[in-house]
Amino acid sequence: MEVELKIAKRWKMASLAMLVSVLNVCGSRLIVAGLCTALALSAQAEPPVAEPTFPLGVDIAGMDRSVAPGVNFFDYANGTWLRANEIPSDRKSYGYWDVVQELVERRVADLIQHAAEGEPTGGSEGRKIGDYFASFMQEDRIEALGLLPLQPILKRIKEISNRRSLATFLGGTLRADVDVLNDTEVYTDNLFGLWVAQDLDHPDRYVPFLLQGGLGMPDRSYYLDVSAAMADIRTKYATHVAEMLKLIGFSDTVARAARIVDLESRIATVHSSREATEDVQKGNNHWLRREFETRAPGLDWNVFFAAAEFPKTQQDFVVWQPSAVTGISALVASQPLATWKDYLALHAVEHRAAFLPKAVVEANFAFHGTILDGTPELRVRWRRAIDVTNHALGDAVGKLYAERYFSAAAKVRIEEMVDQLRTAFSRRIDLLEWMAPETRESAKAKLRTLKVGVGYPDQWRDYTGLDVVMGDAFGNAERAAKFEYHYHLAKLGRPVDRGEWVMNPQTVNAVNLPAMNALNFPAAMLQPPYFSLDSDPAQNYGSIGATIGHEISHSFDDQGATFDATGRLRNWWTKEDLAHFRAAGAQLVRQFDAYHPLPDLAVNGQQTLSENIADLGGLLVAHDAYRLEVRGRPDAMTDGFTGEQRFYLSYAQSWREKYREAALRKAVLTNGHAPDEYRASTARNIDGWYAAFDIQAGQPLYLAPADRVRIW
Ligand SMILES: [Zn+2]
Repeated sequence: MEVELKIAKRWKMASLAMLVSVLNVCGSRLIVAGLCTALALSAQAEPPVAEPTFPLGVDIAGMDRSVAPGVNFFDYANGTWLRANEIPSDRKSYGYWDVVQELVERRVADLIQHAAEGEPTGGSEGRKIGDYFASFMQEDRIEALGLLPLQPILKRIKEISNRRSLATFLGGTLRADVDVLNDTEVYTDNLFGLWVAQDLDHPDRYVPFLLQGGLGMPDRSYYLDVSAAMADIRTKYATHVAEMLKLIGFSDTVARAARIVDLESRIATVHSSREATEDVQKGNNHWLRREFETRAPGLDWNVFFAAAEFPKTQQDFVVWQPSAVTGISALVASQPLATWKDYLALHAVEHRAAFLPKAVVEANFAFHGTILDGTPELRVRWRRAIDVTNHALGDAVGKLYAERYFSAAAKVRIEEMVDQLRTAFSRRIDLLEWMAPETRESAKAKLRTLKVGVGYPDQWRDYTGLDVVMGDAFGNAERAAKFEYHYHLAKLGRPVDRGEWVMNPQTVNAVNLPAMNALNFPAAMLQPPYFSLDSDPAQNYGSIGATIGHEISHSFDDQGATFDATGRLRNWWTKEDLAHFRAAGAQLVRQFDAYHPLPDLAVNGQQTLSENIADLGGLLVAHDAYRLEVRGRPDAMTDGFTGEQRFYLSYAQSWREKYREAALRKAVLTNGHAPDEYRASTARNIDGWYAAFDIQAGQPLYLAPADRVRIW
């Protein structure tokens, strides 16, 4: 439910100026020797890059004033910038978000390379961060090791001799890698994914959620869609699979690849759609451990759960997509063992490709990066090193980030804005004609108890049990994933921690946690161009204010309506409230269904409904909060625009982003958010926007007052 789900976040990042400072530090000060060597190796061809600067106020130069706001508001606000900026060759999309991401990456790189300084012994967090990064940077060592680190896993797969040992292996692959409510990630290449979170019926306890998985491509539609574009991707996937098998020394690769793709297609057939997966009511299915055998026969569940290290006392599970779990389990029994073993070998190498030699990395990227996302070039190694370090030790890196880059004054100012937004939302609830009085009271109770986290968590994670070994990039990644898994398993049976964050402070994003009735606003999102202590209220509220409003309104949207103030999955709306909300939602579904980012592909209004409602609610309360803050003051012109105009322009500029075609296609098919251009068009539902820009009937974005969606 985050504001800006950027897919494949593990492979986002960018930029370089740090390398000059790295070399300076290496030349003059004591620092871990391996780190310096590794960085120096990769640094050779890297020119320094200037810090990005963002205009304080509206980016006038980036606008295209030849386009009328009522014709295309997104282009009006962003057209010149979008035309002037090419998508870098190692990216699938580019915009403000990416520029901020680059800046944060540069800062994080700087923090990571200094983290180990003055910490000669292992075990400290700083040393773990430094060693994790440095080990990944040892490309020569990784080349020299070849596939050796992978061999023990391939050997175990080879030794699978019956369904029982297959179940043992599958249980051992389970990791804490999905999340259906918060930082939404519903894809895993492991056969199943695990999420440990509050029991939606009893939010004072944790329960394990089991999700469908096992596909090599991002979604079932890649296997089942009949379009020519998808058929072409499938052909390329089979070739890719054969190539990966060849790289790990398999023979007869074409025929074996065909059998693997066939198995994955069968898995795809039993998978639930992304749309169904997002429906909490369909997902909240409690199964007792002993019921798996009868409800999903095939896989030896006792063996599976034991191998997955669930304590015997863990009797209840939530099965998010029951028919998929049943279907996949049946396939475990019905499909040839030899095919399963080939499949597992393929997934073993694909899953760990980043930590293996260049030939594997490049083959993996050629398909998953270039074919699926359209990204021509693999990102340079140090950027990937930052990425994997962030992934493994995110909170430890985040602690350094927040200390250095998030000021106490910024925290205070954001908290003031949050208060203003909360007040604005509360007033809107008071004025809602369609909402029943008792629903209104529940809504206000929920708003009062909403826990808003700004910048960083109150409590930091403890990485004491994680062993990071210098020179063992592959092993470090294996141990980090296992450490993360154990961390989540250990929550079972413990009291629920409502202060836990699901994002790191250095993540450029924000998130609503429905079952915790909490929001996380990481420090990295709370900076220009989204927010600045020096920006005027119109810009701050139009940008970060709308983002905060977006997250708040998730607590009161179609999904938020199903979680009460304690986080219990319980509808607290009356039938009439829900009927009104659904009707208004249906109108918004139609509005978004009509957008065609590609000639053969429309936005899925239903799949993106929650996010579109949150955008609309967020923009409305941000505007109210802006008016609250500037009340009594005349609307002053700045840069030739009124405060009202700057507010909406700031909003549209916050969605500044361009996509490669393949990435756009993937986003439309798999993302819960509409492409950014259409998110900027949310303003067409708001009367004030028409007045601010003198939008005329007949212009493409014009909606007659009756057609403007009014929910909040
Ligand atoms: Zn959202």
